[in-house]
Amino acid sequence: MIDTEPATLEFFEVRKSYGPTEAVRGVSLAIPKGQFVALVGASGSGKSTLLKTVNRLVDLDGGSVLFEGANVAGLPLPALRRRVGYVFQSIGLFPHMTVAENIAIGPRLAGEKLSQDRVAELLELVELEEGMAQRKPDALSGGQRQRVGVARALAGQPRLLLMDEPFGALDPVTRDALGERVRKLHGELDLTTVMVTHDMTEALLLADRVLVMEAGVIVADETPHALLEGRGGATAQGLVAVPRAQAERLAELAR
Ligand code: ADP
Ligand code: MG
Repeated sequence: MIDTEPATLEFFEVRKSYGPTEAVRGVSLAIPKGQFVALVGASGSGKSTLLKTVNRLVDLDGGSVLFEGANVAGLPLPALRRRVGYVFQSIGLFPHMTVAENIAIGPRLAGEKLSQDRVAELLELVELEEGMAQRKPDALSGGQRQRVGVARALAGQPRLLLMDEPFGALDPVTRDALGERVRKLHGELDLTTVMVTHDMTEALLLADRVLVMEAGVIVADETPHALLEGRGGATAQGLVAVPRAQAERLAELAR
């Protein structure tokens, strides 16, 4: 039997400029259902812009983006944003709202009230105590806040999870734990996930597939294994060289 299920996410010749700045310069790729993809690259390479084309936080200048086979340009925004969970680079919790209200904001904007039980379930998914629900964001640690950001992104039962440098501001231990948790949730909730990160170690350890972006184009598209074997070209190998050298130095010290 031929598998006719469309890819969860497809980009065709996607282009986006801000005035004279060509942020995304023709990206084409398909992400099948269930894949965990890391999108890495230097600051300013266009990662956030590419991610934002999916739920139409930016409009395209050219090309198209398909979600489950449908052009996102033709989908009603509330339905699209409900199906696509988004964890923002800057967390972006509303300071005057409680944790529970922050988690429920997406469904609320779509005209639906989240039950207390559902909020408790979402908190449990990201390993936060139920008692956190009534706190305000400023009474949480950075890691707890980012967990709330993930719970909020999952509130609408999305099929696609997009995360823009979700753990960038966290200490290494918290960051590692939260990365592992998200990778588990990806499997348990049957998600397709795209995570932007500038950390190649995190990409190699968490993702099934690593995309490397440079100056608005994808310059490498490889599995972590292939990258560690030396494939993907100069830019990708430049990024892999850092964790590789660190691992070698640590191994040396442990001898
Ligand atoms: P990354 O997430 O990889 O750091 P971005 O997608 O944020 O890259 O940015 C790509 C390029 O587009 C950069 O040169 C950035 O300065 C520019 N850019 C991003 N957002 C805007 C904006 N709203 N207005 C003008 N320029 C922008
Ligand atoms: Mg960015």
